[in-house]
Amino acid sequence: MDTKEATSKLEEAFQKWVTSEDFRKIERFIRAFHNYSFGNLMLIFLQKPEATRVAGFNTWKKLGRFVKKGEKGIMVIAPCAYTYKKEEEGVETVHHGVKGFKAAFVFDVSQTDGEPIPEEEEVLVTDEYEGLRSIEESLERLGYTIDYYEESHGEHGHVSKKSKVIHVHDKIPTGQKASTLLHEWAHLQMGRDTSPDDEEIIVQTASYFIMARLGLDTSFYTARYVESWSNGKKWAEISKLFTQSDRLCKKYFAEVCESAMI
Ligand SMILES: [Zn+2]
Repeated sequence: MDTKEATSKLEEAFQKWVTSEDFRKIERFIRAFHNYSFGNLMLIFLQKPEATRVAGFNTWKKLGRFVKKGEKGIMVIAPCAYTYKKEEEGVETVHHGVKGFKAAFVFDVSQTDGEPIPEEEEVLVTDEYEGLRSIEESLERLGYTIDYYEESHGEHGHVSKKSKVIHVHDKIPTGQKASTLLHEWAHLQMGRDTSPDDEEIIVQTASYFIMARLGLDTSFYTARYVESWSNGKKWAEISKLFTQSDRLCKKYFAEVCESAMI
């Protein structure tokens, strides 16, 4: 599968995921938990150290859950927002400001009941891939050391940009190992001028392009991964990053071919 074909396949998988019912459920839920300031996180921790997800009474209601009888709210500090109009050179503009703070109350998920909380299941490339050994050999020939580790905290692999060691979790299918090896290799090729979020999109898509050429379709996994780092961006904007992924893909094959000839 070439890059063009792979891109349209990825778009298809992406659109399918972001229009799915599962995605909408998860998204609605995540959006409901706005970011709390450091001070508020401290307040929450002091009052209820075991709290995991907190939200106000009405937010829980919107999510189909209700605060259980007799539960005591956790106090946080909420800014009093207000809007005001300003006239400048005959044009009226609306501004938002903050005038002082007030106490507000939130509740932890353990204090609520109702609709189940959607959990995003772990997504991974479940296929076994026979070409894994050949990717490992290529990377080793290029001077990389591969370290398979046993314990994972949910991540599939990692690298330190200062070294040429690629760490990959040992307890994942061979298809995921291959995908992760190339993902981590791509990280090592990136400079410092890309935001971390964009870098994740670029390197995973590069891994996907390479795997597509090597005969394993990881579009399902890649679409989910790309979406999770996209901050809600639309496909048209996301796909602009793919010229960099394509460049990495070409670089991989050029370097691998060259090393094979020595
Ligand atoms: Zn990464």
